[in-house]
Amino acid sequence: MNGDLESRIVGKALSLGYDQVGITPLEDMAGYDQRFEERLGKVPESAQFYEGLRRLTKVAERHPWANSVIVIVQDQSCYKIPDGLRGHVALNYLFDSRVDENAPDYAKTSEMNQFFGEIGLRTEWNRKYGVVGDRYAAMQAGLGVIRYNNFFYSDKYGSFCRIISWLADKEMSWKAKSNARPCPDSCRKCVKACPTRSLSDPFTMSPFKCVSLLTTRAIDLKGHPLRKELGGCIYGCDICQQVCPQNKGKWHEEREFPGVAELAPVLAPEAILAMSEDIYKEMVQPKFFYLSPDELWKWQVDALNCMANSDSDKYAAEILNARTHPHEKVRSYAQALTEELSLA
Ligand code: SF4
Ligand code: SF4
Repeated sequence: MNGDLESRIVGKALSLGYDQVGITPLEDMAGYDQRFEERLGKVPESAQFYEGLRRLTKVAERHPWANSVIVIVQDQSCYKIPDGLRGHVALNYLFDSRVDENAPDYAKTSEMNQFFGEIGLRTEWNRKYGVVGDRYAAMQAGLGVIRYNNFFYSDKYGSFCRIISWLADKEMSWKAKSNARPCPDSCRKCVKACPTRSLSDPFTMSPFKCVSLLTTRAIDLKGHPLRKELGGCIYGCDICQQVCPQNKGKWHEEREFPGVAELAPVLAPEAILAMSEDIYKEMVQPKFFYLSPDELWKWQVDALNCMANSDSDKYAAEILNARTHPHEKVRSYAQALTEELSLA
C-alpha cells in the first residue's frame, strides 16, 4: 500500500469537485464473478445479454498488470428535470456525461486521466461501458450498497449517480465509509412496481423483459407482448428506482445540465414522431448513443407506443397520420395501433 499515492488521487478527485471516491484492491473484485454466474443461473433466458458482459469478469486474468480499482461516484441528483421528460426518458440517460463533451463531468474525467499520467500511474478505463463491474467495485470501495433492484446506491445520492472506475497498476486501498444499509428484508416495493415483471425477486432481473432494454435497443414493438406494459416510457425506465424509499428526497435539482432544457420540446412524443433525420443526428443520437444514427425509427415507434398508452384520444390524429410516415416500421406500427385501438 502507498498511503501517499492514495491521498494524492483522492485529493485530486476532491479538488475537481467529486466528494465520493474510493480505491479497492483488485482481489476484492473476485466476488463479482460469483454474482455474475448467480444472475445468469437465475434467469437462463438472459444468457445472450449476460454473455455480452462477460468481459467484466475474471478481471485479474484479463488485466494481469492491474492491482487496484479507483472508483468515483458522480452526482446526478443535482440536475433540474424538465417536466415534459419525466416518466418518458430515464434520468440516468438524460444526465449522462459519458460522451457529452458539454457536460461538466466529462472534462473532469479527462483531467483525472491526465493526472494519472502525470503521477506515473498506469490506468485503464472505458468511457462508455466500464472496464470492471462498476456497481460491485463501488460497493467494494465502501461507497454504498447494491440494492434488491440491482442498482448501486450511495447514501448521499441514492441510485441517482454514475460510477466511473479505473483499473490501476499500483497496489492501493482507500475504503470510503458509507452509511447506506442493505434493503430491509420485508421490502419488495421495486419488485411490485416493475411493470413487466422483469424484476421478479431481489437481484433477479430478466433483461429482455426490462423496459430499459426494450426501449433503448432496436426492438420493434409491433406484436410485442409487453407493448402496453411499457406505459409512457420512450427511452429507459426509472420505475424501480422512483418507488424506492431509499431514494426519497434525494433529488435536489439545483443546476441545469447543459442542453437538457433545450431537448425537452424536441423529445415530446409528437415532436419525436415528426423529427427529421438531421435533428436526430445532431441533437439526440450523440447523447442517447445506445440507438444508432439510423435508428430514429425506434424512437418514433416508442413515441407512438407512449401516445397509445397515455391517451389515445388525445393522440388519435398523430397515430392515424403516422400511417403515412416515411419509415416502414413506423407506418406499420401506426397501422397496428389504429386497428388495436379502433381509431379509424
Ligand atoms: S427498469 Fe423498469 S422494467 Fe426494468 S426492472 Fe426496473 S422497473 Fe422493471
Ligand atoms: S424498493 Fe425496497 S427492496 Fe427495492 S431497492 Fe428500494 S429498499 Fe430495496
